[in-house]
Amino acid sequence: MTLVMKFGGTSVGSAQAIRETAELILNAKKEWGSVVVVASAMGTKPIKVTDLLLEGATSALSGDAETYKHTANQLRQIHYETIDALLTPEGERQIVLAENNLFITRFETLCKAVLVLGELTPRALDTVGGMGEQMSVRILAAYLRQLGHKAEAIDATELIVTNSLFQNASPIFEQTVPKTQARLQPLLDDDCIPVVTGFIAANEAGITTTLGRGGSDFSGAILGQCLNAQEVWIWTDVDGVMTADPRIVQNAKSIPVLSYREVSELAFYGANVLHPKTMRPCVENNIPLRIKNTFNPSHPGTVIVPDNGSMNGGAKAVTAIKKLSLITVEGKGMLGIPGIAARTFGAVAKANVSVLLISQASSEQSICFATPENSSDTVIKGLEAEFEEEIKRQDIDRVWAIHDVSIVTIVGAGMRGTPGISGALFTALGNHHVNIIAIAQGSSECSISLVIDGKETAEAVNHIHEVIVA
Ligand code: ADP
Ligand code: ASP
Ligand code: MG
Repeated sequence: MTLVMKFGGTSVGSAQAIRETAELILNAKKEWGSVVVVASAMGTKPIKVTDLLLEGATSALSGDAETYKHTANQLRQIHYETIDALLTPEGERQIVLAENNLFITRFETLCKAVLVLGELTPRALDTVGGMGEQMSVRILAAYLRQLGHKAEAIDATELIVTNSLFQNASPIFEQTVPKTQARLQPLLDDDCIPVVTGFIAANEAGITTTLGRGGSDFSGAILGQCLNAQEVWIWTDVDGVMTADPRIVQNAKSIPVLSYREVSELAFYGANVLHPKTMRPCVENNIPLRIKNTFNPSHPGTVIVPDNGSMNGGAKAVTAIKKLSLITVEGKGMLGIPGIAARTFGAVAKANVSVLLISQASSEQSICFATPENSSDTVIKGLEAEFEEEIKRQDIDRVWAIHDVSIVTIVGAGMRGTPGISGALFTALGNHHVNIIAIAQGSSECSISLVIDGKETAEAVNHIHEVIVA
């Protein structure tokens, strides 16, 4: 029986956290026989090592010759302190210190190159951004060995093959499955615990790629598929998936069971407890997914199960994405002209921007959609170029945007069979004078999304949460 356990940043964020994580790994090993560990870069809220690495490189790009040096010192402090507290001097302490130092020195060299060249490619960002995982797995594996167990730190660049879409790469399973099995199965057969870097992978040429921010959850699911694991467990710092982001809603509660579809909607619409791509390998291979709290392991957390068609319970959770723009293409002449929608989204796709929500009035006089705020200028320029003729003829009056909006999404497969949910939500917001700018409902009725003014996000999420938990 094989279990994949993924540990997030806080679960490896300090010596004490690593001790607790190691205990969880060893307990699971006794029970399951084979355990594969996936770990993120160290993260002690609010400082995340991945953020430090990426910000260091970005600051060098802007001509700042000091910040990355300061960052390197900070990285040394975080990692060395942990290594000193965990590993004994007569054991592997010096080796692991040297390994970590090598990555931090490489980080400095890369930042210096960025500073001199004035260029920072997505490829370089992946090389820099993935170093946090490469450091943390070496610490965790050495600690497991110090406790008397066989363990080996492995860079996922040896296992997961992706396309070359740096910063958001997708796995090529035909190559990843045999490569992962060939590398990990002998270790498992030898009773060894592989401790694999989350987040990173490599393209076909062996160059480091990353799976997108928060992508270590996806790494865990990919390895689960490759090894035909019985379950994948995601260990984090909250009691599973909750009714809302606990940082926004104080009385958010843990949800015991969710379907793959429900949790996919939540993840897509901003609940960063789980990376949105994590579910697919699990759904396709029927692998149950659990989300549990490293710091409260006796809590059952959340289990994610296949959709059984009769999920009950109405609305289950509310989530939000901030810093979006709502872009509208409008004009009386659009009425009935075929292909306007296709051309609109074609132009957005050409700009390489993702659309988070679409809403079209039935009169067909306008189409509006939400995209990240920092790409709205590119999108508007692309649309104005696409519709140059129509704008000249005044079939399209204008392409415009409302900035600083948020999407608030309410999720629950049981909403389908519960009349009046939308009414209750709108009333709750109306009573508190939160204005709804646009609405979209997935055809599965598993979620309802509302676009509101960004400044009202926390207020709206809290009022909706009261309806959900009522
Ligand atoms: P990790 O490093 O363990 O992957 P993340 O920071 O990526 O941790 O994800 C866990 C965090 O997600 C929680 O600490 C919580 O603040 C946040 N979060 C946002 N929405 C939710 C939600 N609906 N349920 C649980 N946690 C949520
Ligand atoms: N360390 C990476 C990040 O911060 C991946 C992860 O935590 O899942 O994005
Ligand atoms: Mg995460």
